[in-house]
Amino acid sequence: MIDLAILKGSSFAVLGLARSGLATVRALGKAGIGCVAWDDKESSRQEAAAIGATIVEPSGIDWSKITALVISPGIPNRLPAPHPVAAAARAAGKPLICDVELLARAQTAARYVAITGTNGKSTTTALIGHIVKTAGIACEIGGNIGRGALDLAPLGADGVYVLELSSYQLELLQTFRANVAVWLNITPDHIDRHGDMAGYVEAKTHIFDRQQAGDCAVIGIDDDPSRAIRDRMAERPGIAVVPVTLGQPAAGGVSFRAGMLVDADGYTVDFSDVPTLPGDHNAQNAACAWAACRRLGIAREKIVAGITTYPGLPHRQERVASIGDVVYVNDSKATNADATARALSSYRDVYWILGGQAKEGGVAPLAPYFDRVRHAFLIGEATELFAGQLEGKVAYTRCGDMKSALEAAHVMSQRASGPAVVLLSPACASWDQWKSYEHRGDAFRAMARALPGAQVLGRAA
Ligand code: ADP
Repeated sequence: MIDLAILKGSSFAVLGLARSGLATVRALGKAGIGCVAWDDKESSRQEAAAIGATIVEPSGIDWSKITALVISPGIPNRLPAPHPVAAAARAAGKPLICDVELLARAQTAARYVAITGTNGKSTTTALIGHIVKTAGIACEIGGNIGRGALDLAPLGADGVYVLELSSYQLELLQTFRANVAVWLNITPDHIDRHGDMAGYVEAKTHIFDRQQAGDCAVIGIDDDPSRAIRDRMAERPGIAVVPVTLGQPAAGGVSFRAGMLVDADGYTVDFSDVPTLPGDHNAQNAACAWAACRRLGIAREKIVAGITTYPGLPHRQERVASIGDVVYVNDSKATNADATARALSSYRDVYWILGGQAKEGGVAPLAPYFDRVRHAFLIGEATELFAGQLEGKVAYTRCGDMKSALEAAHVMSQRASGPAVVLLSPACASWDQWKSYEHRGDAFRAMARALPGAQVLGRAA
């Protein structure tokens, strides 16, 4: 836990009592710092009260005594409509911050790597953390992934915090400074919270706020808004801007093409065979991780060792088992067609398990990848919609639930010859049959590993 004694004399209101809010309450309490707390959910309030939080109704908060509001990034504070506590804090002229800001104020010796982007944040954060640890450097990984910022361990000047930061968190920082800021990509997302695309891009660019001479901005430049950000950053004096691309190499940058990573000075590494980082999207993540770790001063061979031993994250093209030449892949995090497109583009000869609660457009946008699919196995509410969209293009079977789908895919893939992939990439939300995408993916992993002859791949989770 982070020691917040440095903030003694301040007093905070904490809004939102889930993972990061509870960690904030605990850390403030341990340091003997005043704190009142609120969450709209009764069970969350009870949980916080049990660890010593003083629960105060929104209308009862005395803002004259409060230094700042620590708000959970998931709670709207401006758009579409501010939570009443956020509105009251603003009316009282109090700053709105998040737990990462408190971490930055308390841990001033360590270096910070911050990662943002529309897609690939968690993967790149976990990958950078893994490389840094493999290189023998003290490292804590958190933010939007894993543990809350204040649940991390304190680090000295040799240590590195690797933090995934969402646009919501980035808007709630005041002094945080990224020694290395990683910007992966940007496509329209979360527009309801940011008003429009320009607002979303602007929120994300806060990752570069307060960067100083000697700091570094790693920027994926494969989309237009990100290229514009690179141009803007190039005008900031003293900041090393490292462009990363899957296209034509850019001066001073890192490129990744056909499995080969090429550093700014022409140094080349073959990463075509890293099974935990399949597809072009992961090439972007790996190339950005490479650039960030080089900037941290990690030797190339240590970065290579880190990338090639990266264990992967659960539910994101996670290789869970194999039977002969057939690999079973859990991509339960793919809850929309866009994410499933990444997975389908990474494999050939796919036995594809899909379905659940469909998103707008269903699987129609995936038509360019249909030739990679040998057979589709439909589950859940989306069955009839998807059957219609696949009709005449991909052979399919209505399976009802995942167990039947997995058994059918297993039998069919074993009867055929040659390497193949049984892929759960549902392109759907899970809530018709599961509690969450994690619940669905955990079940797939357990079922695949229980199939006759299955060899376990990847982590034990
Ligand atoms: P995030 O934390 O930003 O949601 P994740 O690393 O959890 O991203 O990856 C989630 C999904 O996003 C992956 O399963 C994949 O479909 C897609 N994805 C990952 N990296 C990228 C990338 N660099 N570009 C585009 N899509 C990506």
